[in-house]
Amino acid sequence: MRARREIVMSAGAFGTPQILMASGVGPGQHLQDLGIRPVLDAPGVGQNLQDHISALLIYRSLVTDHTVGISPIGVARLLAGMWQWRRHRRGVITSCAAESGVYYRTSPDVEVSDMEMELIVGIGDDHGRKLHLGHGYSAHLLLARPKSTGEVRLASPDTTVAPLIDPRYFSHPYDMETLVAGTRIALDIMSQPVFDPYRGDMLIHYDRDDPDQIERTLRDHADTEYHVCGTCRMGPDGDPMAVVDSRLRVRGLEGLRIADASVMPTVTSNNINAPVIMIGEKAADMIRSDA
Ligand SMILES: Cc1cc2nc3c(=O)[nH]c(=O)nc-3n(C[C@H](O)[C@H](O)[C@H](O)COP(=O)(O)OP(=O)(O)OC[C@H]3O[C@@H](n4cnc5c(N)ncnc54)[C@H](O)[C@@H]3O)c2cc1C
Repeated sequence: MRARREIVMSAGAFGTPQILMASGVGPGQHLQDLGIRPVLDAPGVGQNLQDHISALLIYRSLVTDHTVGISPIGVARLLAGMWQWRRHRRGVITSCAAESGVYYRTSPDVEVSDMEMELIVGIGDDHGRKLHLGHGYSAHLLLARPKSTGEVRLASPDTTVAPLIDPRYFSHPYDMETLVAGTRIALDIMSQPVFDPYRGDMLIHYDRDDPDQIERTLRDHADTEYHVCGTCRMGPDGDPMAVVDSRLRVRGLEGLRIADASVMPTVTSNNINAPVIMIGEKAADMIRSDA
């Protein structure tokens, strides 16, 4: 590929390192193992994969009020909501169903919140992929500052073949310890009297007083929050794992920048879409001022 000025890559935390490695920019030995001629030995490409590991406390609801669900009344409300939206541009279907959230600390010694919880007015099992009859609500828990890091490697030099993604969730002990503590606090919140009229059985049981049971259940059910980032991270001169410099230029090459979630050195402490948009805006400013 040729460009008169420069190329800006924005293929995301999986796509950008994949394309770079397939183009010969990445960990030299890994590229050679796949028969790719290295253009630049950049050991940081594909490393430092980060994400917010997340878990759900899902409750069946004793009543259908204030929740979305699969039931005759749930469907009727949805149809009425569609009509309301067409007429007035408001109502139930304008809701993202996770409108309230809280940031909290797992211990008074923690300086800033290390957990996020969103309240979802529905059963959000497996990111909504597993459907259940009836109504419910869920507490969606995110570990705000995970310390585990994973990696993206190539399965093949062909970019139409999916890369090998290993998030290595819970590889740092801090993550499990904090998520267990955060889950216990969330269970306390969800057992407050205000939820009494609604609270039915939990879909996946967590035992507030048994941290080992919580840990086992998290290992079985916690998974991605889709906040993947960090695989071409920014870093200072002299850092061999830094893929881009402070102006998003790929170190060791000319005319190549990266503007997506892969440049984040560490995952932000909450949802990353807005910060990624800010990276794009900042990249546009830098490209203009460097032109
Ligand atoms: C299901 C889901 C739900 C999410 N929910 C939220 C949320 O509620 N709040 C929040 O803050 N964030 C959320 N996120 C995260 C947010 O969407 C991402 O952090 C953000 O979009 C990352 O932006 P990006 O530019 O780095 O990558 P992307 O938005 O992934 O863009 C990368 C683009 O590159 C393209 N691409 C990749 N490989 C190639 C290739 N080989 N050739 C050509 N094109 C390629 C892709 O098709 C894609 O269009 C969610 C993500 C997912 C997947």
